[in-house]
Amino acid sequence: MTKYIRSGRLQQIPPYLFAEINKKIDKAKKSGVDVISLAIGDPDMPTPKHIIAELGKAANDPKNHQYPDYEGLYSFREAVATWYRRRHNVALDPVSEVLALIGSKEGSLHLSLAFVNPGDYALVPNPCYTPYRTGTILANGVVHDLPLLDANNFLPQLDKIPRDVVKKTKVLYLSYPNNPTTAVADLNFYKEVVDFARDHNIVVCSDNPYSEIAFDGYKPLSFLEVPGAREVGVEFNSLSKPYNMTGWRIGMAVGNPEIVSAMATVKNNVDSGVFNAVQYAAITALLKTPDSEINALNGIYQKRRDLVHETLASVGITARKPKATFYMWCHVPEGHTSASFATLMLEKAGVVVTPGAAYGSYGEGYFRISLTVPDARLAEAMDRIRKAIKK
Ligand SMILES: *Cc1c(COP(=O)(O)O)cnc(C)c1O
Repeated sequence: MTKYIRSGRLQQIPPYLFAEINKKIDKAKKSGVDVISLAIGDPDMPTPKHIIAELGKAANDPKNHQYPDYEGLYSFREAVATWYRRRHNVALDPVSEVLALIGSKEGSLHLSLAFVNPGDYALVPNPCYTPYRTGTILANGVVHDLPLLDANNFLPQLDKIPRDVVKKTKVLYLSYPNNPTTAVADLNFYKEVVDFARDHNIVVCSDNPYSEIAFDGYKPLSFLEVPGAREVGVEFNSLSKPYNMTGWRIGMAVGNPEIVSAMATVKNNVDSGVFNAVQYAAITALLKTPDSEINALNGIYQKRRDLVHETLASVGITARKPKATFYMWCHVPEGHTSASFATLMLEKAGVVVTPGAAYGSYGEGYFRISLTVPDARLAEAMDRIRKAIKK
């Protein structure tokens, strides 16, 4: 008997697929198993010292103790523009084309709230980072799945979307380098997206938090590098992943001024922006972090990637070697579902992997491993997986 009936939109949020496995993890831990979780994409290494030092300095300044401007400090937005010019050769107007976000996750919901009316469609990749899906639902929108298939390099086939769906679509969510599939997008794909969005008056959201996490010399693109992208969309980026700042909650939306302004209106009515001291620390991160520091971080992830790839190959599990992101998207062995394999790994190896189906029905047949675990723990997890599967 529930006294307070949840709103219809909340009732539509799919059950948390980790709930079942979390129960099993708790049980294993209680019985003394030293569980190693490879399930969460959260950098294990600390935020670089120069960024923390700037936070300390800014936190001591009383003028930073008051409400921030909800759209972000001008100096933060200017730093974002400088960073985009340096990194992607994209020119942005700090005032009309940059908005501070409390992380990119927040942006996913607020974009839908800004543009999706009840019954409007949002095109959402399947599998995907779940906030695109749940954000659409919370805005009373309708999710139309875009299957991401290995055969298409995990890029959606825009020409396969039914006409009547396209007509009712307001928003298209994309994210490359992709979580969970680790796929990357090239300029040709983005050009196709721009044409599609322009033809059908659709708002494009390119969520790009892994733009700096890449290997073997690969440099991920920004959607805004494509001519015309700014007319149809925005890109989200985030300090979380490249600067080990997931707990700090700061990111940005950049691009089309109308979209940026609509999101700012939502935010002005929902939150009051990011703590100024965090914004000053973020400016330091964007402008003062030597490339060598980012390269060193990527070097660590790359070694871990190679270790996992080798280990899995040795027990007959196939996975692509990612060019970017800190994940591995792996095929579950014959005879397993993604959930049964995740359960097997927990019970036989004490290792938690994420079942692919947690990211959508097209994630079935896969599991995801996150490389954000200290080297020694990852090596231990690989040993255990090797032994468990050989048995
Ligand atoms: C980690 C992640 C985010 C979260 O970014 P925050 O800025 O920390 O909210 C957004 N999108 C994807 C695809 C992610 O994997």
